[in-house]
Amino acid sequence: MIFAPRSWPSNPGFAMTTLILRSRFIPVGQYMNVRLTVIGSSPAWPNPGSAQSGYLVETTGEPRRSLLLDCGPGVLGRLRANGGARVDATAITHFHLDHWGDLVPWAWLNAYGPPNEHIPCTVWLPPGGRGQLDAFAANFGNPGMFDSAFDLHEFEPETPFEAAGFEVEAHRLPHYTMEAYGFRVREGNSVLAYSGDSAPTEQLSELARGADLFVCEATLAQPDKDGQPRGHLSADEALAAADGPILLTHRPVELPVPDGVQIAKDGLVVDISGEPGD
Ligand SMILES: [Zn+2]
Repeated sequence: MIFAPRSWPSNPGFAMTTLILRSRFIPVGQYMNVRLTVIGSSPAWPNPGSAQSGYLVETTGEPRRSLLLDCGPGVLGRLRANGGARVDATAITHFHLDHWGDLVPWAWLNAYGPPNEHIPCTVWLPPGGRGQLDAFAANFGNPGMFDSAFDLHEFEPETPFEAAGFEVEAHRLPHYTMEAYGFRVREGNSVLAYSGDSAPTEQLSELARGADLFVCEATLAQPDKDGQPRGHLSADEALAAADGPILLTHRPVELPVPDGVQIAKDGLVVDISGEPGD
């Protein structure tokens, strides 16, 4: 792993870090490098100055493609500040606001913002998600606002779908009584796993198995701080689910960080290199 200083383009005060992982088992020449940029890393209440869930996965070679995992409040402004956003597809893990809320201002941007700053995007939703958006639009927005702004689709659990050219598989995970999913994102032989929000479960280990990077929530100070049924993880529970490199996220800033563990911060960039060895 290589650490190098990096700063968030629109917020020079944010001193961030670049972390480079060497992907395993990758024959040279059969792999397109993948870059993860943490757009927002906050839990359900935002850490000071931080956006909520948003993780941009991009190819670093041609053709450039970009997939946003979740789109919580604060993410859209960061994307627009980040040199003019291009997002080919977005995939939403579940309908708690901190994971999808900025689809609302994004719809307004595409409807009323400067045409050259519209961000057309395919949006992948959990099963029933179109109905969820329709209900929100009817109550709090304009009917059809999401259909006008995005190319909307619903994914099927455990069934691979293609988003921005990445192969994505959604795994059902327990999260209180909410229907929630984690994602495995594959590009060539490289896999990035993302927990969304989840209680401890064997399915989380299956989601993370063999991933070159597992981005996993670690919301709780202790397991007994959760409700029933459970919906989140302590740092120890997150670490226990991983069998490879892990990046903890969705962690309140007031909680301690386990020694030697990388915590996501807004602006963190992780390059997963195709070069074998380290
Ligand atoms: Zn959350």
